[in-house]
Amino acid sequence: MQVPDIIIAIDGFSATGKSTLAKLIAETFSFLYLDSGALYRGVTLFAQENGYIDPDNTIHEAELKAALDAGLDLHFGLDGTYIGDRRIEKEIRTMEVSGQVSPIAAVPFVRAFVDGKLHEAGAKGRVVMDGRDIGTAVFPNAEVKIFVTARDEVRAQRRYDELKAKGENPDLQEVMKNLAERDYIDSHRETNPLRRAEDAYVMDNSEMTLHEEIVWTQGLLQGRFRILE
Ligand code: C5P
Repeated sequence: MQVPDIIIAIDGFSATGKSTLAKLIAETFSFLYLDSGALYRGVTLFAQENGYIDPDNTIHEAELKAALDAGLDLHFGLDGTYIGDRRIEKEIRTMEVSGQVSPIAAVPFVRAFVDGKLHEAGAKGRVVMDGRDIGTAVFPNAEVKIFVTARDEVRAQRRYDELKAKGENPDLQEVMKNLAERDYIDSHRETNPLRRAEDAYVMDNSEMTLHEEIVWTQGLLQGRFRILE
């Protein structure tokens, strides 16, 4: 199926399977996959390692801003997210980072910093990007927008299984609590809160297999671009 050079924006709450779907779309249609959450996680790791955020979530904004303004080299490499030449893919997926990423992502200058990187990375088009505000703020003109949802217990179980598979020892209650906290902060912050773009198609994948998700997406693209095969 020949899909034109478009931007596909995938948004939704935490652990709805956005990135799994986005990666599969990228693979199926030869698009570039960009994970915007990885950059918020990267800034969070950087803040933790340099003492710009305390365990009680107090953010030392002036210091963090100065460090970002000085030019933090946070970027997408071919095999994941990097700070300079250090690959941080594993470090940014821990519960420690998950626990502090939403407060960091609510800071307006952090969003401006990440937005700049996302625009740069997505400039050439033929991109599928997932996050919370891609269809509403980062690429409001994206040709296709998908808003993914799933039931809370399905999401928690998926994230739990994912952490377990990575060798962590998660607690299901803890995971549920983290998802609920992030949902709340992400959808109530002032700057570009998580919400469905008016022109986004909603996918509830609680009961869908990955194969069904890609068939759903193919149907959407075919209808939207009048692709016949
Ligand atoms: O997608 P992921 O769960 O890795 O994102 C981590 C966090 O980054 C989210 O909980 C949210 O606080 C923030 N985020 C955001 N806007 C995006 C992507 C992620 O605020 N576009």
